[in-house]
Amino acid sequence: MSQKIDFCGETGRCQILIDESMSQLSAYLAGQEIIIITDDNVNRLYSQLFTPAGDVIILQSGEGTKTLLTVESIYRQLLRVSADRSTFILGIGGGVVSDITGFVASTFMRGLRFGFVPTTLLAQVDAAIGGKNGVNLDGYKNMIGVVNQPDFVLIDFSFLKTLPAKELVNGFSEIIKCAAITSRDLFELLEKESERALRLDNDLLRRIVDETVRIKTAIVSLDEKDMGQRKKLNFGHTFAHALEKAYRITHGEAVSLGMILAANLSVKKNMLAEAEASRIRKLLQKFNLPISMKVDCDKRDRIVEPVRQDKKKSGQMIDFVLLKSIGEASVERLSFSEVEEAIDDLCES
Ligand code: ADP
Ligand code: ZN
Repeated sequence: MSQKIDFCGETGRCQILIDESMSQLSAYLAGQEIIIITDDNVNRLYSQLFTPAGDVIILQSGEGTKTLLTVESIYRQLLRVSADRSTFILGIGGGVVSDITGFVASTFMRGLRFGFVPTTLLAQVDAAIGGKNGVNLDGYKNMIGVVNQPDFVLIDFSFLKTLPAKELVNGFSEIIKCAAITSRDLFELLEKESERALRLDNDLLRRIVDETVRIKTAIVSLDEKDMGQRKKLNFGHTFAHALEKAYRITHGEAVSLGMILAANLSVKKNMLAEAEASRIRKLLQKFNLPISMKVDCDKRDRIVEPVRQDKKKSGQMIDFVLLKSIGEASVERLSFSEVEEAIDDLCES
């Protein structure tokens, strides 16, 4: 049985359909003409599911596609297939596809209706949820974008069977993040059931994804424009973004290391018990996520510098999400040297 979450953002209402089958798609489209945006991998694996549904625009997979150049080329393709104000745009793919699709649909002819079928676990719990859509600019992530809710997000777990293991644990990293900042229950469920979760047990996935989506939508609806509460969703992310710039690692791996750094800092500030930090490390390990890394001397500065430049920085201080306990986060202002020290500690271990 699928579960529905009705999410009302400032920019509209979004139906999130958890554990729904892609075969039910037409029920949510109300006969509109649709144009599909997907990427080459998803198209190769699943084109038979969606080619009869409408014209298909196929993007090259990978973060490198998230540019204004791609957006412009999609606008042209939309013109070519005579898209108009009544066309519905459906993004089928991972976070790259949903980020671009939401941005294109929100801006083409001042906005068309759109929906997502996220096909990675990361997109199902994160990118496709919350209404942030956009592209990168000159290596700055998500610099250009809009906040706008899709009509629906249809989450079908059967897509995950073809997802490479590395991509799957990316999603779990973000799920563990949501648990760490707001839900001890979810954290404990993940501790108990990590093996079943990695085996993609459908009932368990439904519980985990439902809870994670509820956490994210609750935080986003409190604070859609990213002022206070939404900052908590950045747990582990300041450091993660810096790592992603310097190393070829996945977002999930970077967030895992970022969460370890933040947990260590929380212990150092006497906010979090060491035993709790240790549980976080163990849980990340259970999901095959990294908890320490080797850093070459020459790369150290390349990691520290982006943290210094982080947009949440003010003067020598930086807003950092720390934990008081598993399930409770708090945004704290730290000195840059405290953060730098923690980076050095993590890298040496
Ligand atoms: P994200 O991890 O943010 O969702 P991407 O959109 O880059 O990011 O997706 C990650 C990779 O997984 C891409 O190479 C994409 O083509 C591929 N992919 C997406 N969905 C599936 C799927 N269901 N099966 C296999 N590969 C997929
Ligand atoms: Zn993230």
